[in-house]
Amino acid sequence: MEARRAAKANRPKIWSLSRRSLMNKCPRAWVLKYGFARRQGGFNQHLRNISDWSSPWRLMQRALRGVILERLKAHSEGISWIEEDLAGKIRNRMIGAMFRQKSVIEVIETRIGKPSDLRSQIDIRRIDRLVEIACYRFHALMRTKPIQDIYSGKIKRWYIFSRLEKTKLKKYQLHISPDLVWFSGSTCHLLRFTVQGVSNPGDDKKLENVAMVEWAKHQNGLPANPERYIVENLYWNNGKWKNWKERCTQRDSEDSIKMIEADMSAMIDLHYKLGLSCDLSQIPLAKSKRTCRNCGHRDTCPGGEDLNRARLEQSALEMAKSSRNRK
Ligand code: SF4
Repeated sequence: MEARRAAKANRPKIWSLSRRSLMNKCPRAWVLKYGFARRQGGFNQHLRNISDWSSPWRLMQRALRGVILERLKAHSEGISWIEEDLAGKIRNRMIGAMFRQKSVIEVIETRIGKPSDLRSQIDIRRIDRLVEIACYRFHALMRTKPIQDIYSGKIKRWYIFSRLEKTKLKKYQLHISPDLVWFSGSTCHLLRFTVQGVSNPGDDKKLENVAMVEWAKHQNGLPANPERYIVENLYWNNGKWKNWKERCTQRDSEDSIKMIEADMSAMIDLHYKLGLSCDLSQIPLAKSKRTCRNCGHRDTCPGGEDLNRARLEQSALEMAKSSRNRK
């Protein structure tokens, strides 16, 4: 009874873009990162740290996003920004993150008793090239709208926000804030930067962006009517920044809430599938080998060794279990 109550208390309550994307790419990776929340103290923290492990490419993207926001913040506060330091700033962010991740690989290697596969991804000589790529993307961004219009003063009313802000929806906490908000006449624009995007964002991506309107409706001074918003996504794809934008409708706003509720229910189902005994064998593996390549759990997860074989073994186990249950 006690354990059941604890499992209920630990049920997922937070929705964010990164959680959604992780659950869709690999339910098992999602469970390893969030499914054990508050259950097992230090062990849980190790799992989290391993889940947070990121490849240098991913660290470059994170560093780029960080300096973009830092640059905008400096402009909004009238603080001087030394352009020549750009490469140094990106490099420092990447090296700092790599240093913090060092202990994660050591923990994994102690557990498996051999060098981790993740080591092959860390080549310090690649950092220079990654910093060059990030600088190129940064300079290209400064020449695009709306950034150019902000610097020229054409956009006068604009604000930046942290993605860590929370919005309450029923019993859930949502991380759905935009990076940048500005006004043109009575229209309010809500924009998110995606440092690596897909060429053709589908309906699903559209609803993810529309979720920003729910955040905006909770803010003082921003319109309550969804139709006064244009949602935008500035994303890097195929060598350039592209801007996806669309005016929001009442229907879009409602559909986006439905999508979040459906995600939360899928997360809760996964949490229950894990069960009180934390049985990972029933939790689906990644859909693509590419996801495993950059996953911190690849040394210890059957999917990391051979995803196709692991998925076949898992479905065979499930079939055996369901036929046992039918008897
Ligand atoms: S190694 Fe692959 S299957 Fe295993 S948790 Fe990571 S992404 Fe999922």
